[in-house]
Amino acid sequence: MGKLTDTDRKAVEDALRAGVLEPVDWPKMDLKDGAVVVLCGDGDQSESILDGLTPEVEKQCGTARIQLVALNGGGPCLSPTSPLSNLGEVLFNFLREAATTRKMRIIVETCSIPIHLAGYFMRVDMPLLFNIWGSVKLKRMRTVVLISHAPCGMAGMCMMSFVDLAVNLIKAKTFIKRVVKVFDRERLGLEAKVVFPCLVHVDYGDGRKELYHFKTGPGAEWLAQRTHQ
Ligand SMILES: [Zn+2]
Repeated sequence: MGKLTDTDRKAVEDALRAGVLEPVDWPKMDLKDGAVVVLCGDGDQSESILDGLTPEVEKQCGTARIQLVALNGGGPCLSPTSPLSNLGEVLFNFLREAATTRKMRIIVETCSIPIHLAGYFMRVDMPLLFNIWGSVKLKRMRTVVLISHAPCGMAGMCMMSFVDLAVNLIKAKTFIKRVVKVFDRERLGLEAKVVFPCLVHVDYGDGRKELYHFKTGPGAEWLAQRTHQ
């Protein structure tokens, strides 16, 4: 199980001070039809994430109507420029570890560049996108909750910091909003437009786990300031 790095802890604290992360104001979230929840499948964190969300869905919807779309990395996988959106970063390591002989390992290492390239074309964001679209259309749910979490093992494998996750959570929201905009409400069978609240779950490593609302507007400004420092 990963541990929150000092750098990531400071970034989380900074985001809290800046008001980019804040406690979730549940009544403000529209969960009357339930929710499509896009999260990392992390078995050590998913229970804590859903423990925060499920009672609120039950309260507003009358039943715990949650459509899970779980993939390692969660919401940031939807960002087209995220290392999580394809297998470019992991395919090479996967094949090298799968090599059972020295000869196989040498072949994999020699073919590093084409393997990385092949991994890049193995998209993760597309199946995720179609799963979200299918969930909205079939279940007629108009709230799609995009969740990122720290520390995330999959993000760690791709050398992504908390700030990288925040950047790509914003890009993921922008991307899915653009795609869903193509389909009008009538074609999706919805009475209102689809909304994409973003949440961030943090495991502080001392027994404390928190689920925050990530405000993407102020978040983009906060990230811009950090890159100019
Ligand atoms: Zn994860």
